[in-house]
Amino acid sequence: MKYIDEATIAHKTVLVRVDFNVSLNPNNSIADDARIKQALPTLEYLLKHHNKLILIAHLGEPEKRNPADSLTRIAKRLQEYLPHNKIHFVEDFTTPTHAFLEQKENEIILLENIRFYPGETKNDPLFTKHLATLGEIYVDDAFSVCHRKHTSIVGLPTLLPSYGGLLLKKEVIYLSEIIKNPKKPYVAIIGGKKITTKIKFISKLASLADSILLGGGLANTFLAALGYKIGKSIVAKEEIDVAKQLLSLAKKEKRTILLPKDVVVGKSTESKQSEIKKIDHIEKDDRVLDIGPETQADFGAIIEQAKTIVWNGPMGVFEMPAFAKGTLDIAKAVAAATTAGATSIVGGGDSVAAVHQSGVSSKISHISTGGGASLEFLGGAKLPGVEALTNK
Ligand code: ADP
Ligand code: MG
Repeated sequence: MKYIDEATIAHKTVLVRVDFNVSLNPNNSIADDARIKQALPTLEYLLKHHNKLILIAHLGEPEKRNPADSLTRIAKRLQEYLPHNKIHFVEDFTTPTHAFLEQKENEIILLENIRFYPGETKNDPLFTKHLATLGEIYVDDAFSVCHRKHTSIVGLPTLLPSYGGLLLKKEVIYLSEIIKNPKKPYVAIIGGKKITTKIKFISKLASLADSILLGGGLANTFLAALGYKIGKSIVAKEEIDVAKQLLSLAKKEKRTILLPKDVVVGKSTESKQSEIKKIDHIEKDDRVLDIGPETQADFGAIIEQAKTIVWNGPMGVFEMPAFAKGTLDIAKAVAAATTAGATSIVGGGDSVAAVHQSGVSSKISHISTGGGASLEFLGGAKLPGVEALTNK
């Protein structure tokens, strides 16, 4: 694979896939624009070499065109960061517009949310062809989307000379090093609520890591698999069998999968009242919303010894003060272990937010822009987006 700083790309029209999937406030304004800032080195590099940039990005998971998921506010914010480069917004590149013909070097066109087009997620060949006609070169700088077989990730590189961007380069180099040569003990901490996506990687990570610590909504499915009553907690019923298999496999192979032994429960996520309970005392109307103090101590002891730490997914509903302690304390434990010499990687939008909230982000070795993508990559899987750039 070639990255943009290993090639000469000048005076060209370059299609750049970026990750502008920023987190939003309830009123739909931008809550955190870190993802926009992380794209700047690649954009500035290409602009310095007098290219015309056409940016492709998505926001949210829209099923059809709708104002709530429009990228107009991204165009505005990006213009603030790049005041000397005119940014044009193209609402629909499939209908005739002069914008492309009139584009000058050092100018940027941002296309409207690419997921407004059903062809994108289907990697539709006609859609790919149409998109490819807009540019001469393709650059992928959206590591966090590289696990998806979408047009803007795997389709375009089949039709255009293709390169990795600088953010993609940073991620691939850092994470490859961990895969090749993880310092032991290697600990993976997995939580959050995207259970179906994450459970797939646990078996892969189990063969690489020495211990896996499970918390958050994800742990509930494993507790249910062991027969514990978990009240009204979130659970992925369809994954209980998978959880059972993973637990018995780990036992056979003498790998540690550690589950909470105590939890913090509440009647709802909004609840200000919380109670610490052992996992065999959870009642019918309880919701498990954080890990308990004994679990924190267990997890903390393993983290303290670790030399490689991969963390994806909060330990509880850390957005609410009553259920934040487990996550924030784990963040501090990971930071302390890093200061003591461990390499730590945190990925996943909410996990990264939790690390920022705990004030220790500067102590983490690598904050990955990918959640699912970094888990898949660290699990040893080949990412379709990265593969698509290989041997180009
Ligand atoms: P990430 O973005 O880091 O990959 P996820 O998106 O999978 O993580 O999950 C993060 C969300 O999971 C947070 O909003 C958090 O409130 C929620 N969460 C964590 N633990 C629980 C739980 N026990 N019950 C319900 N929601 C939870
Ligand atoms: Mg998330």
